[in-house]
Amino acid sequence: MAVIGGGAAGMMAAGRAAELGARVVLVEKNSSLGKKIAITGKGRCNIAQAEFELRPLVEAYGKNGKFLFSVFNIFGPKQTMVFFEDRGLKLKTERGGRVFPVSDSAHDVIDILVKYMRDNGVKIFRNAEVVSLEMEGDKISEIVLKDETIAPKNIVICTGGKSYPGTGSTGDGYKWAEKMGHTLVPARPALVPIRVGDSWVKQLQGLSLKNVELSAWQGGKKKDTRFGEMLFTHFGISGPIVLDLSRKIGELLDSGEVLLSLDLKPALTDKMLDERIQRDFKKYQNKLFKNALDDLLPQKMISVIIEKSGISSEKQVNEVTREERKHLVDLLKKVEMKASGLVGFENAIVTSGGVNLKEVDPKTMKSKIIDNLYFAGEVLDLDGPTGGYNLQVAWSTGFVAGEAAVNI
Ligand SMILES: Cc1cc2nc3c(=O)[nH]c(=O)nc-3n(C[C@H](O)[C@H](O)[C@H](O)COP(=O)(O)OP(=O)(O)OC[C@H]3O[C@@H](n4cnc5c(N)ncnc54)[C@H](O)[C@@H]3O)c2cc1C
Repeated sequence: MAVIGGGAAGMMAAGRAAELGARVVLVEKNSSLGKKIAITGKGRCNIAQAEFELRPLVEAYGKNGKFLFSVFNIFGPKQTMVFFEDRGLKLKTERGGRVFPVSDSAHDVIDILVKYMRDNGVKIFRNAEVVSLEMEGDKISEIVLKDETIAPKNIVICTGGKSYPGTGSTGDGYKWAEKMGHTLVPARPALVPIRVGDSWVKQLQGLSLKNVELSAWQGGKKKDTRFGEMLFTHFGISGPIVLDLSRKIGELLDSGEVLLSLDLKPALTDKMLDERIQRDFKKYQNKLFKNALDDLLPQKMISVIIEKSGISSEKQVNEVTREERKHLVDLLKKVEMKASGLVGFENAIVTSGGVNLKEVDPKTMKSKIIDNLYFAGEVLDLDGPTGGYNLQVAWSTGFVAGEAAVNI
């Protein structure tokens, strides 16, 4: 059999099939394997999410999550962790159930997968770009590379999505699938930073905020919200809660304007925040307003908030009126920005959309349209939040597809 794509899903599929005795060829267009794995988790590779209950795990993937019940039952986060630990990779679980190698090195993950394939005799072709797939009846007869062809019995397409195309994922699998009769759910960047038009955002470039709440609004209604960490960039906002909201924001942008509202003090009610400000104002009663916010806000944020508050920065703190203080409370609970778009595929962590799941058997990853074809990984219409969920799809679908492709 042949596996196309030497990323997370492809290496797992090839290794597993070979382990079960199949003769396997893995075809990768890059000169190295796992180029995307190398940059996951900022080079530390958030390899899995330590969620061992099936229901909450699949729910994290939204409406398509139910497709994953069977594969997670066979090879879920627990089995993934055991797989890597048995092969010598020590793991640790960090905040939010994020599992990383103790070494903090994504390269250790790649090394284990390459060894898994080598030990089981997978033949690896690097610098080998698949150009097309040739059909004969309802089967793929040949895989066409630039200088040669391969005629495998079964094929597993693991070419990933369209995001970070520099790593090799350029959406080739989508084109082939469509040509062979599969339907595609349109691909769009997901887990992606957001462009913001408001000019003050640029002043905050590099500022990272913890324990804040960001909400997306449309037509006067709150559509979604996230609590955690975010970051201001030169074009807008990024960081975990922004990435996780980006899918919803992308959908909302299709139908109109999206307002983002940032609560800088979500743990405090308006009343608690007002009391807190009063305490600070008392402490700094002989100072100017601009020097009385140091305990409340990060330094970079202060001038932006002062400007937005409309309160003169040169005003003595004890001269700030009750109304002005109330307005400040409102502002800290609702810093508003207008989302002007998503950053493109170049900077998206994953691609949402892909091969329509209705046309793939959830127990085996086998195509319901082409007799000797399987899919695994991001090429499928599956994507999850940050936290190890996306690599988990690759490991689980790769393992199951590799196993199933041996058995016909
Ligand atoms: C910056 C970044 C950080 C991330 N961090 C995390 C994280 O910490 N945790 C997490 O769970 N997920 C993370 N992800 C997402 C995760 O990396 C992907 O979901 C996962 O790698 C998808 O695996 P895949 O095997 O399906 O596809 P890919 O890893 O994209 O692999 C596809 C492979 O197919 C090859 N290929 C494509 N076309 C052809 C062709 N025509 N011929 C031959 N070969 C071809 C490509 O070169 C590539 O090697 C991150 C993604 C990015 C971009």
